[in-house]
This record gives sequence, C-alpha cells and structure tokens, in this order.
Amino acid sequence: MATYDYDLFVIGAGSGGVRAARLAAMSGASVAVAEEHRVGGTCVIRGCVPKKLMVYASEFAHHFKIAQSYGWTVGERSFDWRAFIEEKDAEIARLSGIYVTNLSNAGAVLMHGKARLTDAHTVQVEGHGTITADRVLVATGGRPWAPDAVPGIEHAISSNEAFHLPELPRRIVIAGGGYIAVEFAGIFAGLGVETTLVHRGPNVLRGFDDHVRAHVAEEMEKRGIQVILGCRHESLEKTASGVVSTFADGHKVESDLVMFAVGRKPYVEGLGLEAAGVALTELGAVKVDDYSRTNVDNIWAVGDVTDRLNLTPVAIREGAAFAETEFYGRPTRFDHEMVASAVFSQPPIGAVGMTEADARHALGRVDIYLARFRPMKYAFAGGDERCLIKLVVEAASQRVVGCHVVGPDAPEIIQMAAVALKMGVTKQQWDSTCAVHPTLAEELVTLREKYMPSELGGIG
Ligand code: FAD
Repeated sequence: MATYDYDLFVIGAGSGGVRAARLAAMSGASVAVAEEHRVGGTCVIRGCVPKKLMVYASEFAHHFKIAQSYGWTVGERSFDWRAFIEEKDAEIARLSGIYVTNLSNAGAVLMHGKARLTDAHTVQVEGHGTITADRVLVATGGRPWAPDAVPGIEHAISSNEAFHLPELPRRIVIAGGGYIAVEFAGIFAGLGVETTLVHRGPNVLRGFDDHVRAHVAEEMEKRGIQVILGCRHESLEKTASGVVSTFADGHKVESDLVMFAVGRKPYVEGLGLEAAGVALTELGAVKVDDYSRTNVDNIWAVGDVTDRLNLTPVAIREGAAFAETEFYGRPTRFDHEMVASAVFSQPPIGAVGMTEADARHALGRVDIYLARFRPMKYAFAGGDERCLIKLVVEAASQRVVGCHVVGPDAPEIIQMAAVALKMGVTKQQWDSTCAVHPTLAEELVTLREKYMPSELGGIG
C-alpha cells in the first residue's frame, strides 16, 4: 500500500476546510491545511463577520433618529470610518487567531501558501514544496465576479475592497440585487453615504419570496436608498470628480465609488483540478455527490467551491459530514433542505423553506398567511417602517413549508422557526404555541385569516 505524508490534505482554511481539518485531526489522522490568504476564509476575513460589524455600525443612525421620541437628546454626531475599520480589523485578527489556535490544538499542520494539485495524491504548496496525501479536500470557496465586458469595470470595487476603503465615499453606486448588494446598500446609506442600487432584474433578492422582495425594496427606499430596477451598467468612466456610471437606458449617475456585487464564482483557478482529473459542473463548480465526493475517489469538495448553498453554516456542516464519513466511520450526508438564511438588510430578513411561488409550483394548493404592520418600536417614534411576516402552508397536509419575516430581529426569529419547519410542523401545531408578548414574533403564531391577494395594497 502506498504511503503518504498526510492522511488528509485540506486546500483552503475557510469555514468548511477548517471544520473538516479539525475534526479529522481530532480522530487521530495526520492532517495538513494550506491557506493562501488568511485563516478563517471569506466568512471571517471579508464576509459575514466584518459585514455584520458594519451593519451594527450603520444601524446607529436609525437609532439616533428615533431616540428623541424615547426622551433622549442626542448631541453632536459624527462617524469615524478609519477608527471603526481599525477596530474591525483588530477583531478580525483576533478571530482569525482563534481559528489558527484551534487548528493547531487539534494537531493539524498549517501551511501558508497557494496549493495546487499535480495529481490526485500530490499537492504543491508555495514555500512548502511537494506534499502527498491519502485524501484531499478542496475547500477553496468562491470569489466575486464582475463583467469584464463593461468598459471601465476596473474602476469598480468588489465586496472584498469595501472592507478596507481608505475613506467613506460621499456617494456610492452599487450594482447588483443579491443579498450582498442589498446589505451593503443598507450599510452605506446608514453611514450617511448617498446610495444608489442598480439591478438589472425586476426586483432585488431573486430566490426570496416575492412579497419579501417587494417589501424590502420599498423599505430600502424609505431609508433613502435610490433603487433602480431593470437597468444595468453600460460603462464606467473615471472623471476628475468621481466615477460616472452610464446605464443601458442612457442615463448617467456620478458617484465617488462604484461597487459591483453581481455574483460570485467558485474559486478553482490555479488549483490543478485538471491534473487530478476532477470534474466541474457547467457553471464551473466542483461536481460532488451527496457525500461531497468528487468523481476522483480520494478527492472531496465542500463549501462555496461546490456552489450548492453558499452559506457559512452549510460549508461547516458539509465539512463535518465529510469528516464523520471518512474519519469516524459514520457515513453522513448534510441535508440541504429547510436551511434558514438571513439577509442583514435594513430592515433584515429571515427566511426558511419555500417561497409561495416555489410551493405553488411543487405542491399545488397552498394556504398563505400574511401580515404587514408597524413594529411597536418604530410606531411609537412615528416612523413608517413596516414588518412583514408570511407563512406558506401546504393545503392538503397543513404542513408549514415556508416562513418569511422582515423586521427587527428577523434573523434571530427565523433560527427557531427553522427548528419547527425542519420537524414538519403543521399549522395547527404552530398555532397551538402560545405567544410571547409583546414581541414581533408573537404575530407569527396568531395568524388566523388566510391571505387573499387583494388585502395588501401595493404588494398583493
Ligand atoms: P471560504 O470561507 O471562502 O474559504 C476558502 C479559503 O480557501 C479562503 O481562505 C481562500 O483564501 C483559500 N484558498 C482558495 N484557494 C486556495 C489555494 N489554491 N490554496 C490555498 N488556499 C486557498 N454566509 C452566511 O452564512 N451568512 C452571512 O451573513 C454571509 N455574509 C457574507 C457576506 C459577504 C460579503 C460574502 C462575500 C459572503 C458571505 N457569506 C455569508 C458566505 C460565506 O462567507 C461563505 O458561504 C463561506 O465563507 C464559504 O466557506 P468555504 O469554506 O466554502 O470558503
């Protein structure tokens, strides 16, 4: 039998790679991990964590606005972008350090450098030479994508750079309608930047429930974000006073900064997957089965590079399932059904299960429960902000198959709703749960009337 330097070589120390490496090493296997950038990956370094800190920073503006209604006198206000970025970077360094320590405590060897497969069992790591391994896990994540065909695209930044701007722009144009574009629009607008969101689709947040999409776009505009739909960049031009975006309909917007957040792609460049014989999907993701195994017997892939459900907890669970299967003798597949997700827009979204459109398509008859109301906190302050809650129920079985919440704490609420939906809760069981008062979440268990499309003007 061939002998190798390691039992497992993991390429990429992000959410999926680190979890798999740690669990495998804790089983007694010899494990090495290569990381070309910083340990922690997208989530910790330039994704979920710094983004959430930026959301927190930007939310203060809204709190200041309503503070007076609650009896507060808020004095002189100013925001120091550089000071905040410094604090944020210190926190990210601390978290990245914890990941490094955890890997080392588990007994995994960390190698800094880009890794490239030269065959199914051999990896070359910059600065570390050639290493062989019995099994290889590809966990290289994804990268922002921008349309090279747009003239002047080099003047635009991606979300990667948004975390390290030397200063806050006065005006920004954000291209894209996905959750990253929507979240950054909320962040910049909250921090006082004149923000325009341009999206080529008919509404933001494709894949989310249509009521949620319409509601969020409306709420974003209430917060001062200019949302332009059905429009895309034709070109970008740098001028003495900023960057001019020219759109397909001919109109132009000048800003100080343009950010493209129009999609992400699996990061497979320079990985040597061809040399190892690893097959990709048509969209360029590593093709895997339910156990995250590629077409090559000893190579697996988890996380965003497989482009299944591109979320941190999913990458972590896929990595854990791989380790369970291969190093603990317990064949485990991660179930991608009923995974809750959040969008940290302002107001934020929590969603789990099917949209109304998906449910109608897959299940036929569905009952819809929907409410839109002013949350107590903002109603008191005379604000016009509204929450939205929606349940999608399969008519025949009365199973709740979708739950959608827009409003303060929606991401926190949806985590617990996901437990019930994952367990197959029926509407009757859902309703038998007593409310917690006074909360936004209580409205979820007091939805009695079925929704008829004419009831909610504007978003029916
Ligand atoms: P990654 O975390 O991307 O890790 C891959 C690692 O591999 C990277 O560190 C990379 O440097 C390294 N690497 C790549 N190629 C090589 C190579 N050849 N050699 C050595 N190292 C290599 N998800 C959520 O669940 N909630 C959120 O709120 C959320 N917000 C996000 C916000 C933004 C702006 C972005 C961009 C993403 C966000 N995500 C969020 C998605 C989440 O970050 C990813 O789903 C998650 O990080 C995927 O983990 P991963 O292990 O697949 O890859």
